[in-house]
Amino acid sequence: MNIDLSSKVALVTGGSRGIGRAICRALAGAGARVIVNYRSSREEADSLCREIAEAGGEAVSCQADVSSAEEVDSLFEFVTKEFGQLDILVNNAGVIKDTLLLSMKLADWDKVMDANLRGTFLCTRLGAEMMFRRRSGKIINMSSVSAIRSSRGQANYAASKGGVISFTRACAAELAGRGIQVNAVLPGFVETDMTKRVMSRAGKQTLERIPTGRFGQPDDISGLVVFLASPQADYITGQAIPVDGGLSI
Ligand code: NAP
Repeated sequence: MNIDLSSKVALVTGGSRGIGRAICRALAGAGARVIVNYRSSREEADSLCREIAEAGGEAVSCQADVSSAEEVDSLFEFVTKEFGQLDILVNNAGVIKDTLLLSMKLADWDKVMDANLRGTFLCTRLGAEMMFRRRSGKIINMSSVSAIRSSRGQANYAASKGGVISFTRACAAELAGRGIQVNAVLPGFVETDMTKRVMSRAGKQTLERIPTGRFGQPDDISGLVVFLASPQADYITGQAIPVDGGLSI
């Protein structure tokens, strides 16, 4: 299948590291012009833009904390001013703050909900507005297998990612008539900075739960995102698709 995104503009939140970084690379590889959003990893975001340019693609970085309404406003002003259109929005930015329920502080809850769910809402609202005018667009939200298969210490994270799935379905229904498709991707256990701690603490036990017998890599996720961003996926909307080596079976 030949996926051509050459006339498309894509914004990837949290594109500086991990899964988001692989998604930026893959979208640029398919021809999209990519905006690499980051919160604090400026060096990583800029080095990725250079790498994409050296490979013949186009990417620019833009700082914004997706949980801040003001910073998201500025991010979309930047997109409008520099590109004038948005075809693909990947709400990938996310954090974990795992703690057992009885010791979970309100700040642990808020931090995770703000980045994962509020950030997805803030970016989707403005992204959909840009897509509305052109009556076309793709929104891909990063949920998690944790939304459907519970792990201890993840009440905040599971709730935020479950919320992302419900939000995805509601937006998909609302935006379908405008030619905008909204889907969620549910990664399993992918080797990134986010999973380093769990990996060192309980890597062996986690691996035993994965039927395919290996951890995921960021590129296992980016392939599906590129497909969902492509015209080949025009008839897919409102779905929550696990990419987890069978972890959720
Ligand atoms: P990661 O390696 O920790 O990278 C997280 C990225 O999100 C970074 O680029 C970070 O930017 C950005 N970010 C965090 N908070 C942000 C905010 N408030 N505003 C803007 N950017 C922010 O994580 P990852 O493993 O690649 O995870 C990416 C997404 O996949 C997350 O939504 C995560 O929940 C989801 N996911 C991951 C796994 C997994 O196993 N790794 C499994 C299921 C779902 P800075 O570095 O600039 O702060």
